[in-house]
Amino acid sequence: EFVLANKNNAAGVAGRETVARGPHAERFGGQLVLVTGAASGIGRATAFAFAEAGARIVAVDRDAEGAARTAEMSRLIGAPEAWGEAVDVSDEQAMEKLAGKVATEYGVVDVLVNNAGIGLAGSFLQTSTEDWRQVLDVNLWGVIHGCRLFGRQMAARGQGGHIVNTASAAAYQPSKSLPAYSTSKAAVLMLSQCLRAELAAQGIGVSAICPGFVNTNITSTARFAGVDAKEEERRQRKSARMYGLRNYPPEKVADAILRAVVKNQAVVPVTPEARGAHFISRFMPRT
Ligand code: NAD
Repeated sequence: EFVLANKNNAAGVAGRETVARGPHAERFGGQLVLVTGAASGIGRATAFAFAEAGARIVAVDRDAEGAARTAEMSRLIGAPEAWGEAVDVSDEQAMEKLAGKVATEYGVVDVLVNNAGIGLAGSFLQTSTEDWRQVLDVNLWGVIHGCRLFGRQMAARGQGGHIVNTASAAAYQPSKSLPAYSTSKAAVLMLSQCLRAELAAQGIGVSAICPGFVNTNITSTARFAGVDAKEEERRQRKSARMYGLRNYPPEKVADAILRAVVKNQAVVPVTPEARGAHFISRFMPRT
């Protein structure tokens, strides 16, 4: 089923009309979708999936060039309009500025995907205060800022909307090697469910996505607390190899994100490990 999203050929492809494709084109055509961490991996794949469905895209990342590139490619794929915004999600003032700019220049966000995140491995006892703060600032506070600022705009408009937060299977599978990361993701999983309960009456859905191993750049940027540079490099190579072997593509996580919005799912485990026996239902009451 093909839906014509843009008769004005905004993608700039000579002599060709931009066509929104895919099973969700009717649902998302013309909607405003903001994705954080959109310069790479799951965020970029998610921006592209919404672009293909004909949504207007705001690609947010601290990597300005990467965000601009995602926006440019989103237009080529099918987004009638797309913008790249260089913002650090952990910076409250920068996020407030972004929320103001988006509201006045692009409109109220219909779908918000709080996806920006960083990895941090290492033992609990060896992780410094600074490292704990950094991972909580990005992975937890970044999500809180996004939910509050854009959630308020959605609620004030009164026409519903949807918020998706990228948590992780680490949120409900304890491990000795990811204490700070897992704690940040467990908090994201819980805050998503609390916010879901609060916003249900206003027709705003909230979903938490919980991927296991996905083949992205996170393995090359994740830090290893309490080890020297040489050991860090060795561990990085090892974990990149492990993620590569599992070879789960970010595009499949993006599909799960679009489906979560369409079906208004509360908690969505993605990848085989994430759906495994450790998916403890008492952490996730049915809603
Ligand atoms: P990635 O490193 O490919 O992408 C993360 C993006 O977030 C990057 O473009 C980075 O620049 C951006 N970012 C990081 N900190 C930021 C900040 N403070 N402000 C703005 N942008 C920032 O990794 P990914 O795997 O695509 O990760 C996306 C999300 O998925 C993260 O929240 C991650 O924790 C989560 N996740 C990943 C996996 C996996 O196996 N890859 C598994 C579970 C959950």
